[in-house]
Amino acid sequence: MNKPKASQTQAKTQIKLPAEVLEYFPYNAARPHQDEFIATVNKAVNERKSVLIEGSNGLGKTISALSACLPIATKKGLRILYVARTHRQHDRVIDELRAIYKQRPVTGISIRGRNEMCLNVFAAKGAFDSKSLMEVCELLKNKGRCPYYTNVERRSYEYIQMQQQLAHRPYMGSEILRACKKQEICPYELVKSVTHDARVIALSYLYVFDPQIRSAFLKNLETDLQKIILVVDEAHNLPETAVDISSSQLSLFVLRQAELEAERFGYKDIENFARFFRVEIDKLTDKISKEEVVDPNLILKIIESEGSIVRPREFFIHMHEVGLAIKKVLLSEGKNPRSYVNAIADFLNKWLDTIYDDSYINVASKYYNKDGNKAAKLEIVALDPAKITEPVFSQTYANVIMSGTLQPLDAYAHMTKLPESTVRFLASSPFPKEHVFSAVCLGVSTSMNERTPKMYQTMIGRINEVVNSTPTNTGIFAASFQVLNALLSEGLEQQLLKPLYCEKSGMSSKENEKIVQNFKACGEKGGAVFLGVQGGRTSEGVDFPGNQMNSVVVVGVPYAEPTPRVRAQIDYYENRFQGRGREYGYVLPAMKKACQAAGRPIRTLEDKGAIIFLDYRYATAYTKSFIPSWVTNGMKIIPDKPGILSNEITHFFSNQT
Ligand code: SF4
Repeated sequence: MNKPKASQTQAKTQIKLPAEVLEYFPYNAARPHQDEFIATVNKAVNERKSVLIEGSNGLGKTISALSACLPIATKKGLRILYVARTHRQHDRVIDELRAIYKQRPVTGISIRGRNEMCLNVFAAKGAFDSKSLMEVCELLKNKGRCPYYTNVERRSYEYIQMQQQLAHRPYMGSEILRACKKQEICPYELVKSVTHDARVIALSYLYVFDPQIRSAFLKNLETDLQKIILVVDEAHNLPETAVDISSSQLSLFVLRQAELEAERFGYKDIENFARFFRVEIDKLTDKISKEEVVDPNLILKIIESEGSIVRPREFFIHMHEVGLAIKKVLLSEGKNPRSYVNAIADFLNKWLDTIYDDSYINVASKYYNKDGNKAAKLEIVALDPAKITEPVFSQTYANVIMSGTLQPLDAYAHMTKLPESTVRFLASSPFPKEHVFSAVCLGVSTSMNERTPKMYQTMIGRINEVVNSTPTNTGIFAASFQVLNALLSEGLEQQLLKPLYCEKSGMSSKENEKIVQNFKACGEKGGAVFLGVQGGRTSEGVDFPGNQMNSVVVVGVPYAEPTPRVRAQIDYYENRFQGRGREYGYVLPAMKKACQAAGRPIRTLEDKGAIIFLDYRYATAYTKSFIPSWVTNGMKIIPDKPGILSNEITHFFSNQT
């Protein structure tokens, strides 16, 4: 073992941390309040308790969680699964493990899905979904048609060498991919062969929270949840991801494709059923304006009486088996083994499975595609994230659930059904107070009955005050695309003195990335304005440190449209947690989006930024209770008069060196 240098040890003993943590904490000094964060996590996990902890950016949550958990994992022979959303976050885990490795041996790996690791040209060309790719991969391997797998099987010298390296120190998925390309070895198989040796694995939420993927993954790891310390980063995303995992949909398009598929393979009964069902769903959705909750038994009755399917379950199982047979034939023909018949069968079987479960609703909706043609779908919408999270949280050794925006912690713990004994902790902010200016403007709101041209003009006036008093870049995040478009049609762009970069609805991630890059570059040359939406790609997933965004304007509260599914969500929570339905189902999701947008400019301890809420509703004590304290501390209330906001912001930035 490499002992830490004496000088380091000396410096670190000044940090108030348990001795076992100091063995792993690789830095000479802790950031403000970082030691509280680490000690809380270490104590909870040592007592085999879960911990729900809010800590802002800049606190160093990744290294804190790792150095708090690693001594326990090593002592008890446990694995740490660190789940996060993006590859960048996964790679950050490996970066920190490397810092630890300089003083303690530790192994770790960040892993990507087969889709991103596969090198086979045929498989890559097919752009298969993950399930189909798995089947294609198995076939290619069995037939000896994947040279990258042949090199794995041959256990070539290069393969063994790479295995040994991975079992010795931390590696990123991207590095493995690059090295494997060079040696013509399948990176997916290589990673699979070494994961059971890694102490820490950084991976996406799906590996842990999707029950099917989890069981295959744990089998390969040769372990079970009891031997896992689970760290969930950016955990504010988890409730939404959990309901997405257990929801399903079936569109008219899929029904039409299934009809053609059944016809091609000669299954007349399925062809007739798919046609009949498509016509019925088309008729049903003709009668609704946008979306409606439907009685699942009504659809079942239509299938039984109008469709003459006497035993629906048996028929759906028959469809499922036919779908599997079709997949096999497609595979043997070297085609994409995707079966639409199978997709309908899976959806309808789930429809039957959830028919009497009140944590699901069934929704029919009508919409128009890009060509202006009518499209429609049926959905099984999950309302309860705990159905997905609780089976994990209740079995792991301990869970560390962390994010910069988790308040109120009790609400989060209830919604995801964390164990009763879970420790709740709000870490103090590491940001110096003088680095952050925050304010709420009175006299403005995006509340539905106040959306008038006059209101938008007042908002544009306030936005201009911010933009013109900000040294370089300003971000504006509107409550919705409707509000964003209203700002544009009321002349926002024409009134701005800096160039505008604007997010558009339906924009591809590549286009969006380009706009964001161009905007960021303006931070070093005079400044610009970025206009996007709260809850969008940019306001949730992009960091703007330094001059990339000096000020942010949060325009309005992003409450969801009160659609039938939103109302059903509120009712569901109201039944589960009396008096909390509106808060959990309506207020919390909106406030999460607003807080994410508000935090964009302040990403590191050195950042200095102004956060402006353009909606008087943010000034109430209730709304403030959902916003992290580093934002609400010292928050100014700006009266409904022009000029005050610009004076405040000018003053703030002129005091910064
Ligand atoms: S063995 Fe690897 S490279 Fe070959 S098809 Fe499967 S995932 Fe792709």
